[in-house]
Amino acid sequence: MLKSIDCGQLRADHNEQEVTIAGWVNRRRDHGGLIFIDLRDSTGLVQVVFHPDSPDIFATAERFRSEWVVQVRGKVRMRPNGTENPNLDTGAVEVVATEATVLNASKTPPFDVNQDAPVDELLRMRYRYLDLRRTHMRENLRLRHRIVKFIRDYLDDLRFIEIETPILIKSTPEGARDYLVPSRNHPGNFYALPQSPQQLKQMLMVAGADRYFQIARCFRDEDLRADRQPEFTQLDLEMAFVEPDDVIDMMVDLYIKMAQALAPQKELILPVPRLTYADAMSRFGSDKPDLRFGLEISDLTDIVAGSEFQVFSNVVRDGGMVKGFNAPGYGDITRRQIDELVSVARTYGAGGLVIIGLDAAAESIDALTTDHVRTPAKALSIEEIKAIATRVGAVPGDLILIAAGAQPKVEPVLGQLRLNIAERLGLNDRNKLAFCVVTDFPALEWLEDSQRWHAMHHPFTAPQDDQWDLLETDPGAVIAKAYDLAANGSELAGGSIRIHQRAQQERVFAALGYPQAEVDELFGHLLEAFEYGAPPHGGFAGGIDRLVVTFSDTAESIRDAIAFPKTQAGVDPLFGAPSPVASAQLDDLHIAIVTVDEPEA
Ligand code: ASP
Repeated sequence: MLKSIDCGQLRADHNEQEVTIAGWVNRRRDHGGLIFIDLRDSTGLVQVVFHPDSPDIFATAERFRSEWVVQVRGKVRMRPNGTENPNLDTGAVEVVATEATVLNASKTPPFDVNQDAPVDELLRMRYRYLDLRRTHMRENLRLRHRIVKFIRDYLDDLRFIEIETPILIKSTPEGARDYLVPSRNHPGNFYALPQSPQQLKQMLMVAGADRYFQIARCFRDEDLRADRQPEFTQLDLEMAFVEPDDVIDMMVDLYIKMAQALAPQKELILPVPRLTYADAMSRFGSDKPDLRFGLEISDLTDIVAGSEFQVFSNVVRDGGMVKGFNAPGYGDITRRQIDELVSVARTYGAGGLVIIGLDAAAESIDALTTDHVRTPAKALSIEEIKAIATRVGAVPGDLILIAAGAQPKVEPVLGQLRLNIAERLGLNDRNKLAFCVVTDFPALEWLEDSQRWHAMHHPFTAPQDDQWDLLETDPGAVIAKAYDLAANGSELAGGSIRIHQRAQQERVFAALGYPQAEVDELFGHLLEAFEYGAPPHGGFAGGIDRLVVTFSDTAESIRDAIAFPKTQAGVDPLFGAPSPVASAQLDDLHIAIVTVDEPEA
């Protein structure tokens, strides 16, 4: 070894010991005729002192620059009184150098590695090996390792076994586009990279594996959204002979214990509430509600059904609903802030948003007069406003936000506004951790754009036992044995009990409008397996990348939780992927590139 101990491990116990350490020059300071460097390795940093009375070593240290790789031999000693650094684990000691060797020089890095100051993300990705040297990124990678280790240990104790499934496989449709890999030996044929090991883990249940898990890489060729990656990692898990509660209880227990062990600095809100999908949408306007704060949505439809304010009463007459929530203490909002909220509502598809500001000068809601009320909805009577304020729990000084329209629009719009207001009021506290379980998802949703039914979770999800007959008569009403785990407004995991019989699986495919030939082609292997004694089974999968962000104090996006992520455009700026390949490689794969002229605008 080129070192006898790690930099970050040195403590008062090592006083007077001879050590050899090696690492990167984090910083060099020349001070009072001495040279000080902070030497950094993966465990932390320690201060090294060079004395001018050892001229050779001193001369070597004079050449040191940031990020040079050096080896130092020396003696540990207590730092002189008053120079200790309580912010550093090694801050009680320093190493007095007796030998120094340059192992490698470094160009001046394009950004400061020794600080966690913001740096342009493209630059960070281009020089990812330097970015990963920074403390917070190193900590994120370590946290990720500990999460995965925790999961493995936890599941091993429960007699789960980790089984690897192939990366080169046949397409397993889960709603996204597949990444395809051309086959050299079978011209014109392709493997697909798995969107998830869904069908494989179901096969493993048929195989009698009983309790399977895998830290699985998944690939989805989606139009990239802000916080998505073309490849990501999931804890993928499946169990045989289970009912929804068995899986949910285990999932919740795993995540709570993991949070307690790996994010003890966060205030964990317990017990973990359970809501049905309908409840979550109705009360929080989201199927992954952020429960770090209240801002609960109330139904106001009955109050305004007969209102003079026709924007509301007409919506009610046409079968729509009017709902709203209270933003405490936000009554003195500015005109500009109101405009911002209205534009948020528009972005999410609300026709309009009615905002009512209540003057803090009013003594109580009962004592409200029109003078205390600021709203463009002049036709709302003061009695209606009082009833609305009482329903949403507002007091003078508060702001009430109301949306009207059809249910599928109103609830998500209010859900978004709720998040927006929470952000403005600083309620989305990163130090809190609020898990919640959402159950009873609809099995199918109607896609307006493509005018067809789509499986909300995936087509292998079982409808609840009493819901099967609705599949043919009222598909949108079918409730599935599906569940999600959310935390702080993000989905962390999701799963379901699966269909395990051929005829039932075919019924769902039929409801989804799959032609029989396509069913046979895409799913024939699974349907056949179901005919050989497939046990009832279910499971879930949870994103590891997002979990790191949730537990971390510094990660801003999943890109901070992945060693070598792609940009939001799906590009790897370090290696330069995707890239053209040699024509010989294409020939081997029987691929010809056809350039199509862009149609003229
Ligand atoms: N395969 C699903 C997914 O990737 C999870 C599951 O149902 O287990 O979302």
